[in-house]
Amino acid sequence: MLAWLWTRLSEGGAQVSISGRALGRFPASDVERLLRAQVLIEERKADTWSVCAECDCGLDARPVEQIDDAFRACCPHDPSADVTLQRDDLRRFSVDVDRLVARIAASGDLGGAVARIADGIWLLGDTTSGHAVVMSFDADNLVAPGAVMAIRAAVGPKPIMAIVHDLSAAGTAIRLRESGIEPRRIADVLRTAPDGADRLVVDSSPLQATAPRLVLNLSAQSAMLDGSRLDLPMQMFALFRLMAEQAIKRDPVLKKQEIETQTGRPANEIARDLRNALVSSGLSEAQTKSLVATVRARGYRLGLAPAEVVIEP
Ligand SMILES: [Zn+2]
Repeated sequence: MLAWLWTRLSEGGAQVSISGRALGRFPASDVERLLRAQVLIEERKADTWSVCAECDCGLDARPVEQIDDAFRACCPHDPSADVTLQRDDLRRFSVDVDRLVARIAASGDLGGAVARIADGIWLLGDTTSGHAVVMSFDADNLVAPGAVMAIRAAVGPKPIMAIVHDLSAAGTAIRLRESGIEPRRIADVLRTAPDGADRLVVDSSPLQATAPRLVLNLSAQSAMLDGSRLDLPMQMFALFRLMAEQAIKRDPVLKKQEIETQTGRPANEIARDLRNALVSSGLSEAQTKSLVATVRARGYRLGLAPAEVVIEP
């Protein structure tokens, strides 16, 4: 039921109204439990019903009449098209999204606190294997400019897994993985046990989530790549930092002019010095060239995905 609610919110927006008829697919006790927990909030009952399919009555909605204990949505044209309604059909519910997210998190074996990280993105907690689990209304939200940065700021250098309702659009899963986020469909990780309880199970499926490869610590002026410390002179660190900061932006290319403005040296010279310093730190020539990659006629870019880069203050 939690996965179903999440999907309704993902498709209809946070203000979606859910009808009692739609909730009729779930046991009344489950609905009652979520009402008590204020995940579901009962709104004013509906007093109209949608018009019949292909009706030419011209109404936006048809009135509902109460006759004794029965309700009837009346078609002005054709009494045989009237719909008899159950009392619950007219109930309307909204969803408290933060409470729903908290409940989904609580159904899994996660550590840490639930928090809203960005618009439509929540941190659920950490798995026992040390992955940060986030949830998003929409897979596209996760690759929007600034989203990966906001997630990184919240989770630090942990590999990231994201739960979304739909991954069917072409290239969505690939784009997420390129950003260093391992996606999961909610239907695959939130399952209903025979007793009706929902359980979030994220560790049973293999995870190849990206761990950060580069960690820059600005106050210590230190850089770690794949667990090894890079020994960079101050000026080289400054350039490397500019590249890392650019790498998590929408356009990851650090422009030549920007390098010259910031360092006061010709871009090709200082980039060459940075590569030499990286070689002195133990990287191969090839690794160095892909890490500090030349973008012809524009500048330089760091050869890492946004989620592979962590910048600590
Ligand atoms: Zn009609």
